[in-house]
Amino acid sequence: MIHLAFLLLQILTPIEGQQENPIVRVEREAWIMGTSAVVIIEADSREFAMQASETVIRELERFESVVSTWRSDSELSLLNTSPVGENIPLSQELFLLLARAEEISRRTKGSFNPFMGSLIKVWDLRGEGRIPNSQELQTATRHAQLDAFALDFTHHTVARNFNSSWIETGAFGKGAALAGLIPLLSGSVSYAEINFGGQVWVYSRNPTEGLGRIIQIAHPSDRNESVLSVRLRNQSIATSGISERFIEVGDESFGHILDPYSGFPVDPWGSVSVISSDPMEADALATALFVMGPDKGFEWARKQQDIAALFIRDNHGQLSSKWTTSFQEFFSVPQHSTKGIR
Ligand code: ADP
Ligand code: MG
Repeated sequence: MIHLAFLLLQILTPIEGQQENPIVRVEREAWIMGTSAVVIIEADSREFAMQASETVIRELERFESVVSTWRSDSELSLLNTSPVGENIPLSQELFLLLARAEEISRRTKGSFNPFMGSLIKVWDLRGEGRIPNSQELQTATRHAQLDAFALDFTHHTVARNFNSSWIETGAFGKGAALAGLIPLLSGSVSYAEINFGGQVWVYSRNPTEGLGRIIQIAHPSDRNESVLSVRLRNQSIATSGISERFIEVGDESFGHILDPYSGFPVDPWGSVSVISSDPMEADALATALFVMGPDKGFEWARKQQDIAALFIRDNHGQLSSKWTTSFQEFFSVPQHSTKGIR
């Protein structure tokens, strides 16, 4: 069956100025994991470009069938609804993914937490939103800690420990899906840029040639306005913040990123972008650093072998930024001041 999403957008253009052996560019858009995936491929021929773009979209769809928490038949959904205490055998792929997510959670002292489904439920982050009472919040927070799931590394099984616990992939699924594409592109593909729900991954066949591709970083409160830009070669950039994703309940509004310790939504202080050659790490760490906040997060990122992180604080429309040393090299225009952006 031809997926409808394949047909949404398809442009084939020889790249200007390269009349002999022109590089061909294909752009496609698909709707996967509840968000849009824009796939740009440049390759040595039309056929290769089409093939590669199809490989990418098929792989993202395949990955969705393993980790989606929206589809009741995915492998992860089966684990999320499994009887409490039962060891569920998992595919190597899902087990290793959860092990990686757990490891990043430990590394970030739980600021990034894949096991916080119970908290997402009591705030109804996937629906209209609601304010939980203190009893609900207490129970949900208890069931969202690292002991909510027990991973058995010998048998590759996972057991769910509380009846309200489930695994949410919102903060790392897109990054993990992009990471899965890395081994699939090679040879005839000279360049790829994949924007998956705002997270971008760039592939370059010859990373030492050229200046890399410019990727815009949005204003923390307006994703349509660009405030800075970076150049990427074989890296991914993930940004976490609140932007327009507010949930409103009566007079109150809150964002979709929660502090797993308090159980409350994180105050909208701005946004944080992380660049890494590992897209899953970029995704998960951006969420973790947003939870930690611009001060604690900055210190933590610096100490962790200097994660490439950019913090943009939005103080009533007044933006200020700071970044770790390893982020500096990615700016498309050298930045020196750590104070005002504009
Ligand atoms: P986006 O989805 O906008 O790319 P993130 O990568 O930061 O943003 O992921 C946010 C999503 O992750 C939320 O919608 C929610 O499902 C889930 N989530 C919220 N807070 C946390 C957290 N502290 N750790 C892990 N996942 C979280
Ligand atoms: Mg994330």
